[in-house]
Amino acid sequence: MVKKMAYDLTRRGLVFGIVAALGSYALPKAGEASPWSEVGYDRLWIRNSKGEELTIRHWDGRRYDPQAVKMLSWLWRDWKDGDAAVYIDPMLFTFLANIQTNLSMNAGAPCRIDMNSGFRTERRNATIEGAARNSYHCIGRASDFNLRSFPPTDVYRMASALNVSGLGRYRNFTHVDTGQTGRRWAGRGMSL
Ligand SMILES: [Zn+2]
Repeated sequence: MVKKMAYDLTRRGLVFGIVAALGSYALPKAGEASPWSEVGYDRLWIRNSKGEELTIRHWDGRRYDPQAVKMLSWLWRDWKDGDAAVYIDPMLFTFLANIQTNLSMNAGAPCRIDMNSGFRTERRNATIEGAARNSYHCIGRASDFNLRSFPPTDVYRMASALNVSGLGRYRNFTHVDTGQTGRRWAGRGMSL
C-alpha cells in the first residue's frame, strides 16, 4: 500500500513514518565487503541537482539509521518548490546502494550518484512534461539519477539484474522506485 506522507521534514520532529517491505529484497549484512569508504551496500555517495553531496551510511547492519535517513530525505527534497520534504522510503537507499556498489566494483573505482530528481511536490510534478500524475516521486519513493562513468543503459541493466521494484529507462537518466514490483518501462524513443 502506498501511504501518503504529507508531513514536512522541516517542521516536524523525528517521527519515523515509514515501514519498508523488508522481506522482498536482499539487505546488506553487517560487515559485508565494501572496498571503499564512499561506496558500499550499506552506504551512499550521492549528489543532488543543487550540488549538495553526501557520503553517508544509512544501514547500520541491523536497521536503517534514523539520522542518516533524515539527512538523505533532506537531500531528496524539492528545493525548486520551497524546500518541501518528506521522509524517503529507505528501501530506495538500499536499491541505489546496491546499484552503485556493483557498478563501482565493475569500474574498479567508486562512482558517485548524480540525482536529477528526488521528491517532487504534486504542484511541481504537474509542470514536468511526461511525468506521471501519480508519480512515486510525489510520495518519496523514487529517484531519477545517473551514475558517473556509466551510460544509463548500464545502470538500467544493473538495476534490472538486481530486481528493483520500479524501473524506467530513459535516454539521459534512470528512474528507480520502491512501488509495486516488476514494473518496467521505457521513455520516449527508448525500448526495453
Ligand atoms: Zn522518475
